[in-house]
Amino acid sequence: MSGACGIIDRSRAFAEGPVASAAPGWSMGGQPDPDLFRMAAAIGLTGVTTPKEFGGQGHSFATLVAVCEILAAVDFGFAMSLVNTQNVGLRLCRSASDAEHSRYLPRILAAEISACTALTEPGTGSDVAAIATRATQTSGGWRLTGEKTWIVNGRHAGLAVVFAQCSNAGDADGIGGFLVDLDRAGVRRYPVNSGFAQTSMGTGGFVLEDVVAEALVLPPGTAFKSILTEINAARTYVAAMCNAMLGAAVAQAADYGAKRRSFGNPLAHYAAWRHPFGAAETDLAASRALTARAVDMIVEGADAQLAAAEAKIAAVQAAQLHIPQMLHAMGAAGLKPEYCFARHLAAAQVAGFTDGATSILRDRVARLTRSKTDTPKR
Ligand SMILES: Cc1cc2nc3c(=O)[nH]c(=O)nc-3n(C[C@H](O)[C@H](O)[C@H](O)COP(=O)(O)OP(=O)(O)OC[C@H]3O[C@@H](n4cnc5c(N)ncnc54)[C@H](O)[C@@H]3O)c2cc1C
Repeated sequence: MSGACGIIDRSRAFAEGPVASAAPGWSMGGQPDPDLFRMAAAIGLTGVTTPKEFGGQGHSFATLVAVCEILAAVDFGFAMSLVNTQNVGLRLCRSASDAEHSRYLPRILAAEISACTALTEPGTGSDVAAIATRATQTSGGWRLTGEKTWIVNGRHAGLAVVFAQCSNAGDADGIGGFLVDLDRAGVRRYPVNSGFAQTSMGTGGFVLEDVVAEALVLPPGTAFKSILTEINAARTYVAAMCNAMLGAAVAQAADYGAKRRSFGNPLAHYAAWRHPFGAAETDLAASRALTARAVDMIVEGADAQLAAAEAKIAAVQAAQLHIPQMLHAMGAAGLKPEYCFARHLAAAQVAGFTDGATSILRDRVARLTRSKTDTPKR
């Protein structure tokens, strides 16, 4: 417990200090300095849940969620960048050989390299089974050809878990997960630039031309199932991060309203100005309860598919609805980069796509809840 408190305190000091100082520059297109990732590594944030025997911190999923929340309250993109790197480290511990983790894990933990997980392609996102990147087994190992895009850390990652089709197109069970060193010949990385895809997230893509994979870490038959299971954790921490962004937006706007005067009084004096805060706090409380339920289920090892989907839908919706209201409550001052609003607004839109788009998740919830009830069949 004291260990978890330690990493949470260190994360808060890091987020509210160096990350908060640098984040306004990211709103203007700047990118995080590599030193910031090294500082994160020094306090354990590149291996929060990585087991201690592998050099990580060995904390629970609940602690990882708490760390993600603390970082995302300041900058969602930077939090996503770190958690995506730490996830690949965890994958190495679970599925890679001794040679592979001794080669890559120390570099991930030290933030010498960032890492990414790559499913999405120019031709397909939500329909994961339709990925077209091909993996072919040869005497020299597995060779991959294709393109991945819209990938967190894609513009600078040194290592990727790449999902590719080993069998016939559209065969979900034919998909395998491969460890790919992105410094290998045949890899061409590129940045994905957009006012929404925050630079602190390192969003990018890469083209693979007959690239030799380091290893098959998730064999066909297991990879697709693993995606479906592990994405529940990702949906849950993204939900927590959306709650954190909305919480930060409410706090900054409330603080401003206590000081900014209009028509002779502080803004907070006016009931009409305060109403959006009541609406935001109510939805935030409901969303936090759904997120906490999903965290508990994941920690207990229960099937969290429904809970994680509901938590992410609620948190994304609340953030997308109320962050603009909080920005409005600030007047023009809310547009300045020293405030969180513009970054959090863009991030709330991004969160509506990552780890399962909202419309896909709503359909998942409808199917799962329908199967649990006695709804008459038509
Ligand atoms: C900043 C950013 C970072 C990302 N990072 C990663 C990453 O690290 N790794 C990775 O693999 N991917 C990543 N993604 C990609 C993300 O997972 C995809 O955007 C997501 O899966 C949706 O795919 P798409 O954008 O291709 O939309 P599409 O699948 O083309 O869908 C377009 C729209 O139609 C809706 N839709 C699609 N099918 C249906 C249907 N059957 N019924 C109803 N509605 C439907 C979708 O919800 C969406 O609103 C990232 C995306 C962004 C924006």
